Amino acid sequence: MAPRKTVGILGGGQLGRMLAHPAALLGIPLLILGSGPSTPAKQVLSGPHIDGPFTSESHIRELASHCDVLTVEIEHVNADVLEAVEAEGLCEVQPSPKTIRLIQDKYLQKEYLSQRGIPVAPFAKVENPSVESLQVLAGKLGLPMMLKARTLAYDGRGNAPLKSTEASDVDAALKFLGDRPLYAEGWAPFVKEVAVMVVRNKEGEVRSYDAVETVHKESILRVCLAPLRANGKGMQGINQRARELAEKAVATLEGAGIFGVEMFLLEDGSLLLNEIAPRPHNSGHHTIEACATSQFENHLRAILSLPLGSTSLRVPSAAMINILGVDGSMEPVYAMSDAALSVPGAASHLYGKAESRKARKMGHITVTAESDASLREKIRVILSAQP
Ligand code: ATP
Ligand code: MG
Ligand code: MG
Repeated sequence: MAPRKTVGILGGGQLGRMLAHPAALLGIPLLILGSGPSTPAKQVLSGPHIDGPFTSESHIRELASHCDVLTVEIEHVNADVLEAVEAEGLCEVQPSPKTIRLIQDKYLQKEYLSQRGIPVAPFAKVENPSVESLQVLAGKLGLPMMLKARTLAYDGRGNAPLKSTEASDVDAALKFLGDRPLYAEGWAPFVKEVAVMVVRNKEGEVRSYDAVETVHKESILRVCLAPLRANGKGMQGINQRARELAEKAVATLEGAGIFGVEMFLLEDGSLLLNEIAPRPHNSGHHTIEACATSQFENHLRAILSLPLGSTSLRVPSAAMINILGVDGSMEPVYAMSDAALSVPGAASHLYGKAESRKARKMGHITVTAESDASLREKIRVILSAQP
């Protein structure tokens, strides 16, 4: 057996932290590139790690010089440098920098997927945003429409819904989005939001996890329910259809690793793809306790050409509840985490972030149950500890 390859991770947040446990179990050395000496991932991995931004060429090159494979826990990295590092033979990069670059620009991502037969909401470029140009777009896409930043978006912070093209609404949306390249999307009148985690190895084998329902508030994921359930006309086989669509979308991309595929489920049971994350994803956190192989372990297996693990759910019903920060106080964070401790089948994960801020992801709780009714009751108990 060849010695284990060292994996370098761009980004040192909670996703890197959750990669550390399966890495330890499989004997895979991990090195983190992130800003600060004590990021969530660095706290749980002995060092020395690299202290610097994951966008910096010199820091990425330094990481590459110590590693065999580079991967990412965030997509907003420097794709040019990753491409160069790979081309120069310094280090393998998974998933492919080409895929990371494509996903970084939400407009190009949508264009790429729709050209390959993946259904997405209608969308259009916004070249010079103005009341007039947006009126023309509203004529094509309808109202309301969603104005979106093409790059550097997360937690809905690059999105502005536009209800009308009156000057006051347009000005407010453009002010919120700032001076960023934009595109527009027609409104997706979804009945549920859905996500599927898909793992892909270098040979192109793809395996999906059961679809989950993702419940967002103010564009931030709050709760995730697995497996996806939806009743009514058109909803038959929805879990399977969501998995097939996600697998088809990921199969069009290059490179190995885990991908989070976000979708909208419409009233008639049809699905539209919203976006893909080329990394472990918040809607796959339940897989640590609820599935045979977690999204984190399967990511490592995929990028290191180890056999992929089973994606099956181990329980009939599971949920993930995000613990979000409130300004200035850790108390509500600990209160919610502690509330999980007396609930059977619940597991608390805190991310080690010292400072609590409004809507910051501070941790999560996984809940597993033998039935949906039992799951709902457990969730109720935990959520009642929410501030
Ligand atoms: P993430 O944190 O998942 O990366 P993001 O900032 O990239 O989020 P999106 O996933 O594009 O943003 O959108 C955030 C949320 O806004 C979606 O989960 C959905 O609730 C809503 N949304 C986005 N696009 C549309 C649309 N076309 N129609 C209706 N709602 C939408
Ligand atoms: Mg996103
Ligand atoms: Mg999203």
